[in-house]
Amino acid sequence: MSIERKVQLVENLFSKLEQEAAQFEQASGLSCAAGCGKCCTYPDVEASPIEFLPWAFHLFLNGEAEKTIIKLNNTQNSTCFIYKPLSLINHGRCSNYKYRGLICRLFGFAANTDKYGTLRLATCKIIKDGQADSYNSTSEAIAKGLYVPVFTDYYMQLNQIDFKLGHTILPINKALKKALEEVLHYYAYRPSVHLGKACG
Ligand code: SF4
Repeated sequence: MSIERKVQLVENLFSKLEQEAAQFEQASGLSCAAGCGKCCTYPDVEASPIEFLPWAFHLFLNGEAEKTIIKLNNTQNSTCFIYKPLSLINHGRCSNYKYRGLICRLFGFAANTDKYGTLRLATCKIIKDGQADSYNSTSEAIAKGLYVPVFTDYYMQLNQIDFKLGHTILPINKALKKALEEVLHYYAYRPSVHLGKACG
């Protein structure tokens, strides 16, 4: 399958999730605090390369893939490379929100299945503590059948697009690098005739 096709399929999956997450957000009343990017600062965020394939392809189309790999190679920081701090007091934001990965889209508004097969909303302490009433009522509603996006379902759908790139879970900056390498490798021996057309 071509890189363009994989990118399109990943973007279709993200569009579907966007609708489901918006419905869940509305039903639950839960929301991220304005300007909060705290979850992006965790040093142990992991992701699969394929969820950053649209990001890598976008950089490639803009001639920025190689220099971004060099920057990633030189970074000692394990915080997401795409995260940009705005101040010294821990505020920041995603500098490429449109091309953020699946983990970024799911966290806070999706559930994991625990060992008893029960769905547990995976969200941060800020939401759990700051919106405790909504969090508790949403957890009860999920137990009674409220639809919530589920991590494993979405990751299985990514695996179906490209098993190797979807199944491999890496520290986020390694996943970003692998996605860039995949795009660069694919086009290393192919003419770049589609570049203008494919740019979205
Ligand atoms: S890609 Fe953006 S949203 Fe995802 S962890 Fe990095 S900074 Fe946060």
